Amino acid sequence: MFNIENITRKNILQMKAYSSARSEFQGFANVFLDANENPNETMLNRYPDPLQKELKKEIGKLKGIGSSRIFLGNGSDEAIDLLFRAFCEPGVDRAFIFPPTYGMYSVSAAINNVEVVELSLENDFQLPLFDAIKDQLQSAGLLFICSPNNPTGNVINKKAIQNIADNFSGLVVVDEAYIDFSTEKSTLSLLNETPNLVVLQTFSKAWGLAGLRVGMAFASEEIINILNKIKPPYNINTLSQKEALKILTKSSVTEDQIETIKKEREKLSVELKQLDNVVQVFPSEANFILVEFENSEALFNTLIEKGIIVRNRSKQVKGCIRITVGTPEENTLLLNTLKEMQR
Ligand SMILES: *Cc1c(COP(=O)(O)O)cnc(C)c1O
Repeated sequence: MFNIENITRKNILQMKAYSSARSEFQGFANVFLDANENPNETMLNRYPDPLQKELKKEIGKLKGIGSSRIFLGNGSDEAIDLLFRAFCEPGVDRAFIFPPTYGMYSVSAAINNVEVVELSLENDFQLPLFDAIKDQLQSAGLLFICSPNNPTGNVINKKAIQNIADNFSGLVVVDEAYIDFSTEKSTLSLLNETPNLVVLQTFSKAWGLAGLRVGMAFASEEIINILNKIKPPYNINTLSQKEALKILTKSSVTEDQIETIKKEREKLSVELKQLDNVVQVFPSEANFILVEFENSEALFNTLIEKGIIVRNRSKQVKGCIRITVGTPEENTLLLNTLKEMQR
């Protein structure tokens, strides 16, 4: 049986969490003289709610999950870092990743002195079966699966995720930063029967709030309690909590934007395929497209000269450039520029 205490670092289990003024007294009162705040109203003179209760209640309603199973971080990047600090003993435990994938897993591992083991995806960027990689998965730690994957854009088969989670002795972290652009349903539905699963989502992509820095982690209450224990006390500021709440009430606007981005993604894919120097356009369930060009380096630099910045991913996937889906006008400009460059 999976037991969270077995994979939590001993120092984290034993430490006492910082107790802030706002966590010691949580009710309503007329006079607050407990946190050394300036009493003069500036809209921001008070500390924020350390556990973001109102925001979690709304997120919970939307996702069909209780607040006690939601952690909010200063971007999902903070959640990734805290997972390392809680569950990976430096120099002992390992992180398992499936390149090409999001770069922060390795960076966070390096900061925390955790060795990264790179495992191969299949030819179609899908996961191997647990049996095929079980020799490499002997030690515990964190295993990262990004779905839809950045930079390839494909969704990872849910049964394959379940197969690995059921057999791996550490935590499986499924990063769903782009899930709202996908036809595939979230792995949140696997949480109840999978005690070692952590699902990451974010306000940075589909919700249009990359500047806000609010990321979500969903997991068992035991895992969330440990993340809350070690997080900086006031990690989501007052303005971010307010703005995130506001966008949740405007979810129909967000849905319209997502529909437009998905339509534009299909249009871009079709048109890119018709260019002479395009070798292949990878199918995408995200808000970007991975494209292999014959002359990717030169093309990347020429686009910069013309004021269009795309992401050169040729070191991760040979000859490939990652193109974010922009507004219809921006996408047309990109296509016209690429066509002109062929003449
Ligand atoms: C963009 C992105 C994120 C978002 O990180 P935030 O810190 O929430 O902005 C997370 N994971 C992946 C794979 C991403 O591409």
